[in-house]
Amino acid sequence: MRNPQKDQQTKQAYCLGIESTADDFGVGICSFDGDILANKSDGYIPTEGGIHPREAARHHAEVADKVLNHALTAAKVKPSDLSVIAFSQGPGLGPCLRTGATVARALASYLDIPLVGINHSVAHIEIGKLKTGAQDPVTLYASGGNTMVTAFDSGRYRVFGETLDIALGNCLDVFAREAGLKHKKGFPLGAAVEKLALEGKRLVSLPYVVKGMDLSLSGLLTAATALLYKGDFRLEDLCYSLQEHAFSMVTEVTERALAHTEKREVLLTGGVAANKRLQQMLAVIAQEHDASFHVVPLEFATDNGAMIAWTGVLAYKHGLQTPVDESFVRLRWRVDKVDVPWIS
Ligand code: AMP
Ligand code: MG
Repeated sequence: MRNPQKDQQTKQAYCLGIESTADDFGVGICSFDGDILANKSDGYIPTEGGIHPREAARHHAEVADKVLNHALTAAKVKPSDLSVIAFSQGPGLGPCLRTGATVARALASYLDIPLVGINHSVAHIEIGKLKTGAQDPVTLYASGGNTMVTAFDSGRYRVFGETLDIALGNCLDVFAREAGLKHKKGFPLGAAVEKLALEGKRLVSLPYVVKGMDLSLSGLLTAATALLYKGDFRLEDLCYSLQEHAFSMVTEVTERALAHTEKREVLLTGGVAANKRLQQMLAVIAQEHDASFHVVPLEFATDNGAMIAWTGVLAYKHGLQTPVDESFVRLRWRVDKVDVPWIS
């Protein structure tokens, strides 16, 4: 087994991270000091409907070589300079995860360097901390596939609240598709809803479901979609109302976690972190609790390889490695099942 300390002493050490949990295939390269040298990705855009896991996996297999080369070129790093390969081991869509894991195993075996399986949700939190300087935040991680409020306690990121059904990004995406909006490269459906919501003037009442510390978004989506079909309201007003309800729900849960943990920082991460209205709501509750508010920069908010590379560095430096025969993917790998020994 290689020794991480020795790696760092003998030469500059780098980790290459592969992300492939859903629609994005990403490769990031990070030094052991936390310098992100490359963060390249290629996203699968369905011709119609939501993400088809097998089609997305096929996309990942087709672009893997290109994205890997882009990342290595951008980082000015040779494959032989790499010390460790990290990959998103879960949670996510099976065929997509397996494609990334296969690329990671092949690289690690060929280069004869260690492999580290990384939890995708932990990686979103760690890149948020690295890029914003937050040390010990209450984190709202809201994306196309996940919505949870976490904070570190006793060796793990604990889940203080989460969606009981669909994710926040998925709620916005499905509504947008029902409304006939189109996902374009660099302009995801959530951004299309955000743009229309800015023109919203009327707040339409929709189901607001917070159950204890958890929340439910599926009834809200059904109700908003039903009103869309009825045609009595402007699309702009429905987008505005959907956002106001959904964002208030996640903000309420985040505020409760903040009050309970008495942490001094709030971090927003995941693809939905791009949304200015959500940022605004969270900034208000952070201020009310004398906490600082941090938003991960856009490039690192959505799924990306750099977050896997950086979390790979943290894990590897703390003695974690994943033997190839234990590198099976974990479709439902919860964040609170993962030890994070790099936090004391
Ligand atoms: P991720 O799953 O982390 O790759 O993030 C993708 C999700 O973020 C999708 O559901 C997008 O619609 C959503 N998203 C991206 N930009 C925005 C935005 N400006 N407002 C709301 N949601 C967004
Ligand atoms: Mg994505």
